[in-house]
This record gives sequence, structure tokens and C-alpha cells, in this order.
Amino acid sequence: MNFSGNKNMTKKLLKKIKEKLEKQKAEIEAYLQKFATEDKKFKGDWDTRYPKFNGGVGSQILEDAADQVEEYVTLLPLEHNLELRLQSINKALEKIKKGKYGKCEKCNKKIPDERLKIYPEAKNCGKCE
Ligand SMILES: [Zn+2]
Repeated sequence: MNFSGNKNMTKKLLKKIKEKLEKQKAEIEAYLQKFATEDKKFKGDWDTRYPKFNGGVGSQILEDAADQVEEYVTLLPLEHNLELRLQSINKALEKIKKGKYGKCEKCNKKIPDERLKIYPEAKNCGKCE
């Protein structure tokens, strides 16, 4: 039997998952806003702001610059990770809206409920990973 999405899930579980996804989405967006700016041209794309130097004098400028570059380098992969998660979450929410949630992208079978409870933005059934 081919799994058709939402309909094969209980409404209660779907509602729970949707709430979880929306909560995670809000959390990630709030976090990203602290150090990144959403790219208006590409929805869901975020750019880490390059730190501005705060105008010290002499060697202090260089020291601050080094610190800030270091911070930027640390934040960059984190930003990228969060961005990818946010994209997965948005995609999962989109699928719920379209009634296609919970279906493995590779084999078209149902993703086990237990997996979706832990990892609601899952794209595959676990066996296909
Ligand atoms: Zn699969």
C-alpha cells in the first residue's frame, strides 16, 4: 500500500508535531536574529553579519579585530546548521499543509510515528538514510 501522507496519521499526533515544528521554528528564528540578518531575496536564507570594529586605538584595534573574526568564524557553521534545520522545518510544515507529511522522500513509505515524534522534520523513513 502506498502511503499518501497526513491522512494515515492520527490528527492528535499531527497536531502535536505541527506545534513542535512551529515552536522549533520560532526558537531558531529568534536565535538567528541575534547574529544574522534574513536574506529578503531568498526566503529562509540567513547571512551572518560581519562584526563591525568598534574603533579602539593602536594594538587594541587589532586585538578586537582578531577576537571578532574568531567569533565570526565560530558562528558561521552554527548559522549554517541552524539555517538547514530551519529549511527542513519549513519544508515539513509545508508538507503538513499540503497533506503530504510523514512520507519518506525516497521509498514513499510511511515514516514511523516514533521517528517523527523524535525528529519531526525527518525526510525519510530511517531505513533510507
Ligand atoms: Zn524510505
